[in-house]
Amino acid sequence: MTNSRYEYVREFERENILLPETHIIIRVDGRGFHKFSDRYSFDKPNDERALKVINLSALQLMKQMPDIMMAYGDSDEYSFLLRKQCDLFERREFKLITTFSSTFSAYYQYYWNQECSDKPLSVERLPTFDARAVVYPTDDTIRDYFRWRQVDCHINNLYNTTFWNLVVKGGMTPKEAENRLIGTLSSDKNEILFEQFGINYNDEPEIYKKGTTYIRESIPDTTGSSELSKRQLDRLQKKLRKSEIKELHGDLIKDEFWNSRPWLLS
Ligand code: ATP
Ligand code: ATP
Ligand code: MG
Ligand code: MG
Ligand code: MG
Repeated sequence: MTNSRYEYVREFERENILLPETHIIIRVDGRGFHKFSDRYSFDKPNDERALKVINLSALQLMKQMPDIMMAYGDSDEYSFLLRKQCDLFERREFKLITTFSSTFSAYYQYYWNQECSDKPLSVERLPTFDARAVVYPTDDTIRDYFRWRQVDCHINNLYNTTFWNLVVKGGMTPKEAENRLIGTLSSDKNEILFEQFGINYNDEPEIYKKGTTYIRESIPDTTGSSELSKRQLDRLQKKLRKSEIKELHGDLIKDEFWNSRPWLLS
């Protein structure tokens, strides 16, 4: 394109380049999914098909973006860990987050149509996702980030499981159930589930209690190198693209998960 006399307005544009050689985590979260899940009559507390839709979307994004080493999600959110040396969009924050949110939203709609064709999407309430990117300075903060999200998943799931049992099986109104749960500890909720409904929370499906994790397996040991030639970098991207992606519903809180997969943080 030739320059025009108007080109100078480009000078007003601003970029935020994320700190090099640090891990970036991008989290997407559904907009207004409380209402969305109402509108499309999700099963409560956990709609299996909706979980499948969000998981397929995350997996597809990971396949498309070889720089994603790991993803973790539950409910209407997903977090993606990019490798330390990732240079996707030259680490431009706005390009990264807008691409993640729009691509994720597009996949979600695609897989929704595939999995829930009996509940066609209405243009007045389409599923869309926001995104934020954060750089974390150390391996410990990365580990703690995923622990934070998994603890959040556990707390919400225990609450929702108890709440919906009180409403559906216990015959309470939502307001009554909410009041019943005010000030209760985890142990109280476990007890309500067991005493009133014969449910042992530990026996609930792992995918509900722990969320879903995708990890890239069999990774070349060059992911962390900062000095790669163009050719080496191309080869690395190719290998990452081909690497197997594994689905887990396990514990991210104990060190074991991290210690046995050092390449995730290399
Ligand atoms: P915001 O736009 O601020 O994110 P929100 O309504 O999306 O608002 P969240 O805190 O993100 O608020 O909560 C997501 C909601 O989506 C939860 O209330 C949860 O009940 C519902 N939800 C998401 N996935 C499922 C699912 N698979 N089954 C049942 N409910 C779900
Ligand atoms: P980037 O991801 O960097 O934006 P890009 O390939 O989208 O890369 P753009 O500068 O945005 O690059 O260019 C958009 C391209 O899309 C143009 O080359 C144009 O040819 C094509 N395009 C968009 N809309 C139309 C259309 N309605 N008809 C024909 N071509 C179109
Ligand atoms: Mg949300
Ligand atoms: Mg959410
Ligand atoms: Mg374009």
